[in-house]
Amino acid sequence: MRATAELDHDPHFAHLGREPLEPPLTGGELARLAAGRRAPIKSFLMDARRIVGIGNIYASEALFRARVRPDRAVDRIGRTTWERLADAVVAVLEQAIAEGGTTLNDFRDGAGKAGLFQVSLAVYGRDGEPCPRCGARIRRFVQAGRSSFYCLRCQR
Ligand SMILES: [Zn+2]
Repeated sequence: MRATAELDHDPHFAHLGREPLEPPLTGGELARLAAGRRAPIKSFLMDARRIVGIGNIYASEALFRARVRPDRAVDRIGRTTWERLADAVVAVLEQAIAEGGTTLNDFRDGAGKAGLFQVSLAVYGRDGEPCPRCGARIRRFVQAGRSSFYCLRCQR
């Protein structure tokens, strides 16, 4: 992981949002960032103008943990769900770091970039496999040109 201090001086990153772990994201903060918007939650999480480092894989995994469908509009998300989602994002990123997978500064993802984190992915890339939480089938759909994976039964 590149040092945050280094990024602070990089003009390419001047317009970007905050790091999700420094300090850890909160539900209240996510709710404030989403206020007045109607974007699908996954696109919102991946928008680096607000929060950096949540790529397609991390967003999919965090939404699974928080039991939120990737295409749910942010204006349909309540306070307790925001809290669950903030905790899920933090947990997924911390797990990725602990497992030596992709770094927070890796905006790309997909084949070859997921590293060791791949082994513990719950939904990403698992189209047709059983949900590790409820056993229903994992579905894939294309959202804003990217693959989204979610459990039809336990993500709402
Ligand atoms: Zn499920």
